[in-house]
Amino acid sequence: MNILITGGAGFIGAHLCKRLLKDNNVVICVDNFITGRKDNIRDLLNEPNFRLISHDISQPLYIDDDLDWVMHFASPASPRGYLRFPIKTLKVGTLGTHNCLGIAKSKHAKFFLASTSEIYGDPLIHPQPEEYFGNVNPIGPRSCYDEAKRAAEAMVFAYQKQHNIDMRVVRIFNTYGPLMRADDGRVISNLICQALTNNDLTVYGNGLQTRSFCFIDDLIEGIIKFMQVDFSGPLNLGNPDEITILNLAERIIKISGSSSSIKFLSLPEDDPKQRRPDITKAKKILNWQPRVSLEEGLKRTIAWFKQNL
Ligand code: NAD
Ligand code: UDP
Repeated sequence: MNILITGGAGFIGAHLCKRLLKDNNVVICVDNFITGRKDNIRDLLNEPNFRLISHDISQPLYIDDDLDWVMHFASPASPRGYLRFPIKTLKVGTLGTHNCLGIAKSKHAKFFLASTSEIYGDPLIHPQPEEYFGNVNPIGPRSCYDEAKRAAEAMVFAYQKQHNIDMRVVRIFNTYGPLMRADDGRVISNLICQALTNNDLTVYGNGLQTRSFCFIDDLIEGIIKFMQVDFSGPLNLGNPDEITILNLAERIIKISGSSSSIKFLSLPEDDPKQRRPDITKAKKILNWQPRVSLEEGLKRTIAWFKQNL
């Protein structure tokens, strides 16, 4: 298949490009490198089935090639990233989604949106099933990301209704692994890099807030399976193994054999207190569930950062 991926030089996008190329697809990666890195895809630049277009997808893009899929993964995704670029984040979620849907429509291609657990906001229902409408502060610091993704989902469903686009919406929960940026501010990359450099691990608030972390290989497998079924979603993909951030910091210190201590910093505004995906639907519809334990995933990620810091 011919597949266009926006955000293909980012953490998840680069893994997806590699997997789709391995499966003998032609991949066109569109990225403006606002939070991604050429290093993530450097090994692909000489592949005959890979093409890179440096472009801001919030601006219209015209493609000559036939396309089977348009997969929209472009967006700053870490709180540090979207707090730095709130307007660009809103634009890529809204205008960028619109441009991508336009490409998909004109090519009669299927459309895939990378949405997020952030659309549930600071959730009052736990764990979060797809039916939950969420609890988002529409004008808080995270709203540029949360509301952009909510608008993106609304736009994709409107295109399905009005233009009969064949589409998928995945709600991705916290994912980690090799190719994460050391400086993108997300908790796993922060804590691992601090542990490896024997700096104090920064835990925000009292560390009793929870997240549920999915290893990248499991997520990519789920995305590939989602492309293969006749179901639009929205579909949660993530690992339901929930952990407090304090406990995560302790595990990272232990696994990495670091001599670092933990230091507590203030909790960012609107930081969700709990998050865990209900993956009943993904299990049933995709016959998918995460296979890599947090222990194993952390070991692999720490090993990668040791080589790449
Ligand atoms: P990332 O920042 O590593 O990758 C995003 C990529 O998009 C980067 O390469 C960036 O340069 C590119 N990009 C951003 N704006 C662009 C624009 N206007 N035009 C072209 N390219 C642009 O983040 P990620 O973790 O790989 O996230 C990828 C997608 O998955 C995002 O849409 C994000 O919302 C979603 N997601 C990720 C997670 C996670 O835990 N990593 C969780 C939920 C959702
Ligand atoms: N966090 C932390 N220390 C850090 C970075 C993040 O304690 O150095 C916390 C953050 O406040 C949040 C959780 O870890 O409660 C996950 O943060 P991340 O930025 O990875 O993603 P989020 O799930 O909030 O989008």
